[in-house]
Amino acid sequence: MSGLAPLLERYYSRFDAAAHIPRDPIQFPHRCTRPEDIEAVAFIAASLAFGRVASFGAVLDFLLERLGDRPAEVLREASRGSAPARARVHEAAATKYRWLESAELEALLLAVGSVVAEGSLEDHFLRFEGDTWAALGGFLGDLRARAASAHPTPEERSRALAFLFPSTRTAACKRQHLFLRWMVRSGREGADFGLWTRVSPASLVMPCDVHTARIGHALGLCSQPKASRRTADELTAALRRIDPQDPVRFDFALCHLGISGGCRGRRIEAVCSGCDLREACRWW
Ligand code: SF4
Repeated sequence: MSGLAPLLERYYSRFDAAAHIPRDPIQFPHRCTRPEDIEAVAFIAASLAFGRVASFGAVLDFLLERLGDRPAEVLREASRGSAPARARVHEAAATKYRWLESAELEALLLAVGSVVAEGSLEDHFLRFEGDTWAALGGFLGDLRARAASAHPTPEERSRALAFLFPSTRTAACKRQHLFLRWMVRSGREGADFGLWTRVSPASLVMPCDVHTARIGHALGLCSQPKASRRTADELTAALRRIDPQDPVRFDFALCHLGISGGCRGRRIEAVCSGCDLREACRWW
């Protein structure tokens, strides 16, 4: 770890975050200017951020174009029963992505709208007590219930809703911790928004997916190259030893070592020879 810290700091300082925003789901909330729109769009974008960026990006383009310039207002009014707003939400959700059908997309939009109708997503998150995992679990469970009642889906589709609002028991909940990172952090790299001022960056958990798990394992930050809650906790604990106040600041750069840099968590001569972290990597 002592050898890794300076390498990681150098890699982080050289990483051009601005250049990677257009290749990341964070591009979608960056299109908004009003805090309530940033929050709502960030949650929706993070929820659908699985698979290839180009694939879910096309769905988000479709959906956000139909919600218009004030998406939070449309979602709020739809959840309050406004017929025109409800029609726009229905139109925005008239698409599908992988195993998510339009019914689940509409349920997601209406669930976010029902929270926005009561205040900010930060206010809502803070209603749930405990550490970040516990609060996130309460937040997602509540949203899942709102989604199910706002737009009831057949029983056989309940797994799709469970995917959108996962249990925190064993899953890494990467997309949801990514949303928290976007909202809470305000690092000098300028990608994250820092909108939520009542949650400490020190309490955040690493958004752990196939990329961060593989790279973390390669660098000795976690014991398994597989995404899980346990791996997320191991990554967070290891990075907290490098930066106790802001352990997840490395996430954007590390994740893009896989997304944009081609790291597969194993030695690939053409990829590894240009990697700034190879001196600390178990595969090099
Ligand atoms: S040396 Fe290769 S396997 Fe190791 S972190 Fe870098 S790109 Fe990934």
